[in-house]
Amino acid sequence: MPIAMSPARSVILILSLGAILSLNGCHSIRRVQPNIFVFLIDALRADRLDQEIGGKPLAPFLHSLRAQSINFERAYAAAPWTMPSLASLWTARYPSQHQVQSFHAVLPASEVTLAEQLKQAGYRTGAFDSNILVNPAAGFAQGFDFYGVWAPATAEETKRIGKTRAPLLHQKLGAWLDKNATVTQTAAASESNPTPLFVYMHYLETHVPFTPPRERVERILDARPNAAEKRAALDGIGWNLLAVPRDQTGIWQSLLEDLYDAEVATIDADLEGLFKELQRRHLLDNAIVVVTSDHGEGWGENAFYGHGRALYEPVIRVPLFFWGTDLAPQSVQTRVSLVDVAPTLLELANASALPEARGRSLTALFRADRYAGWRAQVKRWFGANPTQMWSPIYAELGRDPKGPLGPNLHTCAWIDGDSKIIETSAHGILAFDLSIDPEEKQPLPVTAESVQRQIQAMQRFSDSLSTPIGPDTTRTIDPKVREQMRALDYGDSD
Ligand SMILES: [Zn+2]
Repeated sequence: MPIAMSPARSVILILSLGAILSLNGCHSIRRVQPNIFVFLIDALRADRLDQEIGGKPLAPFLHSLRAQSINFERAYAAAPWTMPSLASLWTARYPSQHQVQSFHAVLPASEVTLAEQLKQAGYRTGAFDSNILVNPAAGFAQGFDFYGVWAPATAEETKRIGKTRAPLLHQKLGAWLDKNATVTQTAAASESNPTPLFVYMHYLETHVPFTPPRERVERILDARPNAAEKRAALDGIGWNLLAVPRDQTGIWQSLLEDLYDAEVATIDADLEGLFKELQRRHLLDNAIVVVTSDHGEGWGENAFYGHGRALYEPVIRVPLFFWGTDLAPQSVQTRVSLVDVAPTLLELANASALPEARGRSLTALFRADRYAGWRAQVKRWFGANPTQMWSPIYAELGRDPKGPLGPNLHTCAWIDGDSKIIETSAHGILAFDLSIDPEEKQPLPVTAESVQRQIQAMQRFSDSLSTPIGPDTTRTIDPKVREQMRALDYGDSD
């Protein structure tokens, strides 16, 4: 809210600003640092926030929050599974660079993370994580004052409860905020924020095993075909959702997707509750909230289910939107990558940039006032096609034939404008024109000159990322943790 100011006070303010400028230069004038929250919903497909159930959004809270946000409609993960994707989100670098490409990998201490830069800039940093893969032993706690992972402690517990759900994470977050969010963060936080917060929440709701509350499942089934048959199938296993077969056959194939959607609706309601609680604590008076995922999930497109082994659109596209008290809502069509998120947040927080980042701050795409000249220039170069206004998208899975989630179908993908190429493990290159074939069903002839140009561009880019493997990039995994990972479908390959 604007503050009414008397003419005398205005003069004093102008004089003070002048004094600061003359003494210290403009770097001393800092916008009050916003609290930053990253809500990461593991394996949430980009299209799920557009789904409807009975004529209403499947996820009404996130749907509405997205409408009040800067929404990147075409955002891509840098890898199709959790560890490399998260490492890329935090470092703004690609998997070939940070080398987190197997279960045994450790994010090297030499990598600089978003949390480290925010901590350096005075932020208090906390992580509340339910995915066992992104834990401190794997190097993911760099820069966090507090890093909590809550996951079932034993294989038996994993079989019994499946995974940690949002209410427990929110309870832990609440206890941490009680201690760390200072009382001065009141309604006046936009004027003063002595201890800005960076909070990372990692939810597993939309990751197998799907265990949403029964009433949410019922609501989804009511709106879908074959409800009676699906109910009978669930009755047959006594509604023990942990016993649902994950083999994608028969009625279970469609039922698994129903359960996934019930999880989307569940985490949506939990996040609405958290949002209200954060508002009650005045922590959103001056804040940026990022909602995203680490990868999508295949539901049979191109005969691929799950994530981790392919680079098709449903697997690497993710939701990405920035809600902020200071950010005007808008929709951005340009394709962007999760490697661009950390540079954006660091710029918005007036913190130092990541020294070796390959991603770039997205502010150029939404701060029209600051970048009007740049945007006009790009438009002159590329015409009206906004998909070509940014860097090409690169996602990778590695050339290791024994991938962590089973044999890799694909090794890397490149999207320049609407042209996409995927390098496969066994069948050479697949090329698509996403403007006419968004579902990647009609591969283009690889011999076409335009495809050859893209292959060469991808190769050059890929070569530019190669980094020698350092000594601190692998570790031995605790057998107990390995057991828990198996329960989350993180294969058997070591
Ligand atoms: Zn994941």
